[in-house]
Amino acid sequence: MARINDHFLKLKTGYLFPEIARRVQAFATAHPEAQIIKMGIGDVTEPLPEACRTAMIRAVEEMGERATFRGYGPEQGYEWLRQAIARHDFQARNCDIDASEIFVSDGSKCDCGNILDILGHDNTIAITDPVYPVYVDTNVMAGHTGPANERGEYEGLVYLPITAENHFTASLPSQKVDVIYLCFPNNPTGAVATREHLQNWVDYARAHGSLILFDAAYEAYITEPGIPHSIYEIPGARECAIEFRSFSKTAGFTGTRCAFTVVPKSLRGQAADGSWVDLWSLWYRRQSTKFNGVSYIVQRGAEAVYSEAGQAQVRGLVQFYLENARIIREQLAEVGIQVYGGVNAPYVWVKTPDGLSSWEFFDKLLHTCHVVGTPGSGFGSAGEGYLRLSAFNSRANVEEAMRRIGSVFAGAGAVG
Ligand code: PLP
Repeated sequence: MARINDHFLKLKTGYLFPEIARRVQAFATAHPEAQIIKMGIGDVTEPLPEACRTAMIRAVEEMGERATFRGYGPEQGYEWLRQAIARHDFQARNCDIDASEIFVSDGSKCDCGNILDILGHDNTIAITDPVYPVYVDTNVMAGHTGPANERGEYEGLVYLPITAENHFTASLPSQKVDVIYLCFPNNPTGAVATREHLQNWVDYARAHGSLILFDAAYEAYITEPGIPHSIYEIPGARECAIEFRSFSKTAGFTGTRCAFTVVPKSLRGQAADGSWVDLWSLWYRRQSTKFNGVSYIVQRGAEAVYSEAGQAQVRGLVQFYLENARIIREQLAEVGIQVYGGVNAPYVWVKTPDGLSSWEFFDKLLHTCHVVGTPGSGFGSAGEGYLRLSAFNSRANVEEAMRRIGSVFAGAGAVG
């Protein structure tokens, strides 16, 4: 009899997005004439930059010639892509990161989950609340938690609330934790961390021998000067942090799939016998055993992000979404709704008006404005009383959604 991994049975997932879909479907069936605008999903809408497309077409042509055909590539990613990443994303910001410390992958989501392969099962794990659900669920699957309580919180995890009061940046835990997930710019709140905040975390991690898992999937959206783009801008981070990056939201690669993880060679963890082991070697071993690399064609597309044309096009994409975010922020503020984020991130974190719960506000937006958001409570219990709006949409949809919200919440009446 094949036994299953019983830890999967503890998972609470399958609740948030299916429940949103169920409510939207029920409304659409009852109101077939409604033009519903979906602002809940964190997926990009605009096409791939031309520089990336051109590079990929050229790579496809190369694959059609015996002389330039490529089979399996290096599991860690091609050297030319890793060099471009190291130079542009790290060395240009004075981060001491070498190309050999970069591991190209098919997504940050996978890397965030897979990293648990090289960590032990007895670590105390801290996450923020609200949080990108992948950090939680992958730990549940790996058996690092007990069951969830009625608030959806798993026994054994340390939850660090992020709220308006602490500017959506968690306070250091009062107890010792071994692994800490940080995500800046933050999904779902759109918050960023100052240099001082990150320095506090690095100091904490080094004092306690903890590991920071730093998710910078939205780094390209940082617009304000002085905000760190990488954890490695913080002195000491090479000794305590792994960083996850992605081309998904930077260059529209959500369907193309390319990302990378940085594991400094100076990063160490402790084995059961008390000896210190470098994590780079473990991750290298893990990747070369369980992963066979990203397609040559896609890596050429990712490399083109760093060309002069690619950089300009990617900046254009990011600015397009940030302009959407500005329209959302300003329109909501105009009708007296409190908003956070959306300045250095493609997400606007909306305080529900009139004391509505997250789901009540979700229903109100759906029924009166025909607009779909994501209830904040779905990202964790401290997200109750908030709703996430995504700026990943066409300009026409964003403007129409804001026109409707403006008319309803300013008391002007029905939606057109
Ligand atoms: N990290 C965060 C915080 C995200 O919001 C997402 C996607 O929404 C990812 C990682 C996943 O990125 P990828 O498309 O590279 O798997």
